[in-house]
Amino acid sequence: MTPDHSNTWAAQAIRRLHAEGLAYGPTPLRPLPLPALEGIEVYLKDESAHPTGSLKHRLVRAMFCQAVATGRITADTTVVAATGGAVAVAGARFARLLGLSFIAVVPARTPADTLARVEREGGRWQPAEGPPAGVQQEARALAERLGGHFLDHFTDAERALAGCGEPTVADEIFEQLREEPHPVPAWIVTGAGTGATSASIGRHLRHHGHPTRLAVVDPENSAYFPAWASGCPDYATGMPSRIPGIGRPRTEPGFLPTVIDLVIPVPDAASIAALRWLHDTARVPAGPAAGTGLWGVCHLVARMREAGARGSVVTLVGDHADPYRNTHLDPEWVRARGLDPAPYAGAVERFADTGEWPAAGSGPATGGSWSGA
Ligand SMILES: *Cc1c(COP(=O)(O)O)cnc(C)c1O
Repeated sequence: MTPDHSNTWAAQAIRRLHAEGLAYGPTPLRPLPLPALEGIEVYLKDESAHPTGSLKHRLVRAMFCQAVATGRITADTTVVAATGGAVAVAGARFARLLGLSFIAVVPARTPADTLARVEREGGRWQPAEGPPAGVQQEARALAERLGGHFLDHFTDAERALAGCGEPTVADEIFEQLREEPHPVPAWIVTGAGTGATSASIGRHLRHHGHPTRLAVVDPENSAYFPAWASGCPDYATGMPSRIPGIGRPRTEPGFLPTVIDLVIPVPDAASIAALRWLHDTARVPAGPAAGTGLWGVCHLVARMREAGARGSVVTLVGDHADPYRNTHLDPEWVRARGLDPAPYAGAVERFADTGEWPAAGSGPATGGSWSGA
């Protein structure tokens, strides 16, 4: 193939990727009705509305753009991912959009449902031979054997978001808040998996000089809170998170602590309690990570009220409830893991009804110690 042809292919591929983003448009930003909070509005940025149901859609599209633009994906490249999660589903979809083969190397015990979704998007999968910690190595080796491209979301997503020239989640949030009572939010709250989303939001805030502060909510077993609080970037817990999509056993290269104002550790049972409130009371079909985010929002709104401040707070719904009906949304599953959301459920309900929140340092609602703003 002559360089001319490959440039034509690349230009067309990038046009297709951008067109996909434009076709679906921005994901919805919806107010969360909390009438007890006078003068403070809470919004949910619904990233589950992406065609593959997760904010990973945005990350993976940017990574395809970047890899095509730099010549690492060409017309006959096989794309390989190392995950049994949303990145595999989105990867399969974008590979098919560009006419490429896609293989996900998946950890043992990946839900059959996810594998079926990868297949429906036109991708293939194969189980990893070794333990979960080695999945990335196996996928990288497979990509090398095939002369393919390893879609390394932990390393590449953050830079891809910065370089792909598409609207970011922060661009969309600020645009969507323009006509609202407080168009510049006091806080944006997100979890961190690869860290790319929080890095992209933090970068946006600094570029535009917004006074908005950025909080990352962090589940149990994750390295992000201890690393941030101790200033040791190589902190590792070696334990997997139980909240899908967020929390990592080590800090990933895409996590930029310098653009984050506050990291809030959230007990897993509190995430579940907040998730149930979102479902049962607010009727928001969100995944577990949105519960973690809501718990962080409660803390920050309580602080704003204490200070007599008004304003808006935005948190992300990173994925949809559907994959979790038999896990995080099933009381049996929760109990079997030794999690007791009951003490936290009372705090969330009371907050929603009255705006009151247990003072820091008392009761189950503190969620550990934390420093910062
Ligand atoms: C991946 C993910 C996040 C965090 O996004 P990163 O950009 O990877 O840090 C948040 N919520 C859900 C549901 C996710 O899947």
